[in-house]
Amino acid sequence: MPVFSSTTNRAKACGLAPLAARAGALLLSLSLNGCHVQEGKLTTNEPAATPRASGGRAAASDAATIHRRAIAIDMHADTVQFIIDEGADINRRLTTTQLDAVRMREGGLDAQFFSIWVEPQFYGRGGPRAVARADEQINAIRALADEHPETWTPATTAADIRRTASEGKLAALMGLEGGYAIDEKLESVGRYYRLGVRYMSPTWTYSLSWAGSSGDAEGQVRGLNDFGRKVIHEMNRLGMLVDVSHVSDKTFWDIVEASAKPVIATHSNCRGIANVPRNLTDEMIRAIAKTGGVVCVVFYPGFVEPGWMEKKDALDAEIKPLVEEAGRKAVGRGSAKRIARDRVREREYAARLPAVPVARVVDHIDHIVRLVGVEHVGVGSDFDGIQATPAGLSSVAELPNLTAELLRRGYSEEDVDKILGGNILRVMEEVERGAER
Ligand SMILES: [Zn+2]
Repeated sequence: MPVFSSTTNRAKACGLAPLAARAGALLLSLSLNGCHVQEGKLTTNEPAATPRASGGRAAASDAATIHRRAIAIDMHADTVQFIIDEGADINRRLTTTQLDAVRMREGGLDAQFFSIWVEPQFYGRGGPRAVARADEQINAIRALADEHPETWTPATTAADIRRTASEGKLAALMGLEGGYAIDEKLESVGRYYRLGVRYMSPTWTYSLSWAGSSGDAEGQVRGLNDFGRKVIHEMNRLGMLVDVSHVSDKTFWDIVEASAKPVIATHSNCRGIANVPRNLTDEMIRAIAKTGGVVCVVFYPGFVEPGWMEKKDALDAEIKPLVEEAGRKAVGRGSAKRIARDRVREREYAARLPAVPVARVVDHIDHIVRLVGVEHVGVGSDFDGIQATPAGLSSVAELPNLTAELLRRGYSEEDVDKILGGNILRVMEEVERGAER
């Protein structure tokens, strides 16, 4: 496997999140030159910094206001795994996840695309178990709004997001991460569309017969086959966004050629800064922009900071016995063993790997903006899918730190609006236009 193992690149953060949060809070004041918004300090009616604060802290107040005014959309979080496997109630403030409704409000996040993710190693690369696992996650997201209509609104369109944000509620959207659950049936694409899914990446870390992944050897030589191209055309026809995060380079170029609609990367960074297969080359970023699409930057330090992944791999080798022991001891359903292993990883990474500041995430935004302009960049945190976070972005509550750093670098409010959600709204509207449903 190149660069990362299937079990470690997609880890779940959980019980040890408070440890990481504390570490993040300590580092935050250094990383943002005082313009920081600490987790838990920001609420809807109360700016993070007091008016009497001066210098950098006054800027933080402006950042908080600008952040709040924007419609903020996160294109990728894996929280649903915790809902179905651990019974996490994300309507309450949790310490076992990186995202919940309370911290979404604190972080000024208006809309979340929840990843519907079938782990192929447990549920197969197709077949009834993969379908059932995807359906279970979809039902869990739909249940959010059924059970808490005062908090959540199910959303499938740009207009839904705008309306939900104006009502002060949270929009719940869904994207399929990897096409395993379509089970090589074209009609499944329409079925997931009707269930509310609005984007799909053809693969996660494992290749399929019809699309290659960046995460395995098959993917090195595999692009889209005829069926894969039909899947892309069907997504275009329905108005489902095509996501290139995780696909192999060959598949990437086949998708760009096959898609008649804008293409997005829901959670990928720049190889020009961190050269890992999950990130995009400058040519790929230009190609996405040419389709009218958007690259959404991901917070995982391995995809943010050059060399971090190698350090992580070395540490993984060292902590392997600890991780395996945690897996053996874990009881429970679904992903319980993986979650237990990932908790050990998260604790060890927080303690022993170099902290990556928010500024490094913004370096990726800068890189994309320099290549193709501010119209083609967005945010896809991968919260609850990652075992490590940048210092100052340890949970969704700290999202305003991203805005503070953008403003510090001279981005205007209009730019910030585009990056936080405006660009994605534009792409959604374009993909929705002319869709045959
Ligand atoms: Zn992913």
